Amino acid sequence: MSERNTNPRNVSKLKDKRRQLPSNDALFRGILKGDKALLAQAITLIESTKKTDGERANTLIENCLAQKSESIRIGITGVPGVGKSTFVETLGKNLTQQGKKVVVLAVDPTSSQNKGSIMGDKTRMPELSRDPMAFVRPSPSGDSLGGVARKTRETIILCEAAGYDIILVETVGVGQSETAVHGMVDFFLLLKLAGAGDELQGIKRGIIEMADAIVINKADGDNLKRAKLAEVDFKRALQLYPPKENGWIPTVQSCSAVQNTGIKEVWDLLLTYVHQARSSGYFLKKRKLQNKEWLLQTIEERLKFDFYHNEKVSVKLKEYLTKVAQNEISPFRAADALIKLQHTEIT
Ligand code: GDP
Repeated sequence: MSERNTNPRNVSKLKDKRRQLPSNDALFRGILKGDKALLAQAITLIESTKKTDGERANTLIENCLAQKSESIRIGITGVPGVGKSTFVETLGKNLTQQGKKVVVLAVDPTSSQNKGSIMGDKTRMPELSRDPMAFVRPSPSGDSLGGVARKTRETIILCEAAGYDIILVETVGVGQSETAVHGMVDFFLLLKLAGAGDELQGIKRGIIEMADAIVINKADGDNLKRAKLAEVDFKRALQLYPPKENGWIPTVQSCSAVQNTGIKEVWDLLLTYVHQARSSGYFLKKRKLQNKEWLLQTIEERLKFDFYHNEKVSVKLKEYLTKVAQNEISPFRAADALIKLQHTEIT
């Protein structure tokens, strides 16, 4: 956390600001006008953990959902240092120069109020942050990836209602965060570096299946030749994977985010994908599927949360865990008993 935020005077000012959030009506009208300050306050409402704020947030999200949007949601992942923020800054600036409104969001499950985060501690994308056509928001903090992902997804809806065309969601790929981001975007891009030898080594399992494109960054200077070689290696390796459900064959390209070379080609590729997916109907089909998945995941999370936060259950769970470890009771019987206990009314 920065010094500014740990200063007790600033913390209480921040709390005051939160308490004085404008009405839903004012927030909604502000969002529709594309007012960044009000959009930011609406996101603060969404990120709030207060129950009453949760109800207000749901109403606001529903209002925003009803707004028409032609947005493209793009997920970007890659290990720390691969050049994600530089890439996003360069791509984002290219897009705002074309008159597009760009949002940059992040999903960083290590970001919490108490701990430092992998992504949030440095000043990221300084130029884009100042660009009137762009809106950059750091990762929400949260105790669980599920919570962080939910807030990000809801933020996307608000930003779309605010008229943003391109939503860039960046993630560092801790735990399951890539899967979470993949579940909320139309196109998923994996940034890589050229390394020596087998290019596929060191890639997390499953990530190749998720990627719609692999882009080798830092293809400049002495690294250019190696990047081109890596491109060939990846292309060869990708041939071993079947095409995606929509027939899309993931592609490999290289770029230099610092020199702004190859970025236009990445964007052209993305537009080709979107064009194909829109005309085949896959674009909408995928979004609908993602919405359904989201409902199911939310239900699962809520059930789990209610279960583990039930006072009677948590007391008894400790006891059963010991008994199960000592084979005094079967895990199935213990689970049955605990679930029943959750549903018994306090008398
Ligand atoms: P992130 O941790 O993935 O967000 O990576 P950053 O964007 O912070 O970049 C890490 C470092 O790589 C920084 O020093 C960047 O200046 C540098 N970098 C990023 N993109 C490029 C590129 O295309 N070429 C070169 N040579 N360096 C780059």
